[in-house]
Order: sequence, then C-alpha cells, then structure tokens
Amino acid sequence: MKGRNAVVTGSTSGIGQAIASALAAAGCNVMLNGFGDPSAIEATRREMAEASGRTIAYAAADMSQPSDVRGLMEQAANALGPVDILVNNAGIQHVAPLADFPEEKWDQVLAVNLSAAFHASKAVVPAMSTRGFGRIVNIASALGLVGAPHKPAYVAAKHGLVGLTRSIALEVAQTGITCNVVCPGMVMTPIIEMQVADQARVTGLDPEAVIQGVFLENQPIRRPVTAQEIAAAVVFLCSDAAGGVTGAVLPVDGGYTAR
Ligand code: NAD
Repeated sequence: MKGRNAVVTGSTSGIGQAIASALAAAGCNVMLNGFGDPSAIEATRREMAEASGRTIAYAAADMSQPSDVRGLMEQAANALGPVDILVNNAGIQHVAPLADFPEEKWDQVLAVNLSAAFHASKAVVPAMSTRGFGRIVNIASALGLVGAPHKPAYVAAKHGLVGLTRSIALEVAQTGITCNVVCPGMVMTPIIEMQVADQARVTGLDPEAVIQGVFLENQPIRRPVTAQEIAAAVVFLCSDAAGGVTGAVLPVDGGYTAR
C-alpha cells in the first residue's frame, strides 16, 4: 500500500482517526477531514506525519454539503495526487422518538451518513476507473443491518449505505475498484460518550451501568470493539490482497448481528 493516496472523511476523532493512522502506518499518504479545535487537529496531523513519514494533509470540508464533498476530493488530489482509497467514515447521530424527530435532523443525518458517500464516490470513481485501481470502504454500523428504536435517520442512513456499497461494487466490478462496507458494533468514541451521558441523565444510572446495561447488552463479547480493530479491517479491505473482496458487508461488531 506504500504510496497510495487515501481520503478518510471524519478523521479528526474516533474511528476515522484510527483508520487514518493505520493507513498512514501502512504507507499511505492521507487527507484528514472533520471538525474540531484547529490546534488539536494540526497536532494530530503533524504527529501522524512524523510517525509514518508520509504526507498527511487536512481539509475542513463539511460532509453535509455536496459541494464541500466534491471540493475535498479535489483538495486531496491536489495535495497528495490521484485518490486511490476513499473511506467514507464521517457520521453523526440524533436520538429521538419518531413523533418528536426534528425534520432538519433527519436531513442532516442522511446528508452526512449517506449522501456524502454518494457524492464522494461519484467524484473519485471515474479517475480510479481510468487508472484501474481503487478502494472505497464505507463505515456503516451494526445498525446498517438491524433496527433500533429512536434512531430512525441513523438506521435508515446506515441501511442505505449498505445498499449503496453493493450497487457501486457491482457497477465497478470490472474496473479494478472494490467497494465494501464495514459495520462496527459499539466503539467508545465521542459519538457514544455523548449518548452514554444522555442516557445516564435520563435513567439516573451511572455511566458504567449504562455502558454495560444498555450499550453492551446486545454485544456478545461484552466489551466495546476498539477503533483499532475497525481500522485493521479497513486496512485489509484497502490492500492488494483484498482485490477479490467487493460488495462485502463486514460486521466488526463483537457478535452483535450474529443472533
Ligand atoms: P466521532 O464522533 O468520534 O467522529 C465523527 C467524525 O466525523 C469526527 O471527525 C467529526 O468531526 C466528523 N464529522 C461529523 N460531522 C461532519 C461533517 N458534517 N463534515 C465532516 N466531518 C464531520 O464518531 P465515531 O464513533 O468515530 O464514528 C465514526 C463512524 O463510525 C460514523 O460513521 C459512525 O456512525 C460509525 N459508527 C460508530 C460506532 C460507535 O460505536 N462509535 C458504531 C457504529 C458505527
């Protein structure tokens, strides 16, 4: 994978940051993206560049905006060279009963978790196809395979991402491009920490009880999956060795969807 150019959306935190770091360690130049404190992002970028010896760039594109998504792909090509690897990881959550679910949250969750992957893939596939190589990995969720109450937009977006993956995989099957989707179980990152805090407030339970009793109840390994475990699966799917794997839906969910 040495010298491959990768874009990882939503890589200023959590799973995306672990994926970016693992791809850099495997020899890729990486375009980081996402929100956060500029000095913390710059420190992460520099640290990754120093540890890997690769080119690590950053662009603050907003994945809810199609023009920003297209712009990110152009910025990546300018900073690194042609994009070989696209990891559509940026994601947001909103939890509310259907009757109270704000319409703007529905639009926002669909835009970041699903539509951004469409716009980004659309932007990079033609050049990947011309070069005869490409790797697109989408980060969905165990909730791309099964439902959950109070998360209608997230569950719909992640199921949509599984379908988008299969459609793209079939369309580009003879071009050297693969398109796969990883479905993480519960990983302790800010997106989950916020939900743990919310649940703790609502239920009066302490956060550890919420983690064990609510979030890990359906995860048979009874521990969070680590961001590094997700990243290892992504690195495999991006490797030459995974050239025969396309349209695959890979749960890395501690058994969440096994029953
Ligand atoms: P996180 O909140 O730690 O990271 C999300 C990243 O996306 C951050 O870098 C954030 O800045 C970025 N982001 C959010 N909105 C954006 C926007 N509009 N434009 C650009 N960047 C944006 O969350 P995470 O847990 O690392 O989640 C990463 C992916 O994994 C998401 O798609 C999430 O749905 C999925 N996932 C997470 C879990 C889990 O348990 N943590 C489980 C299943 C799936």
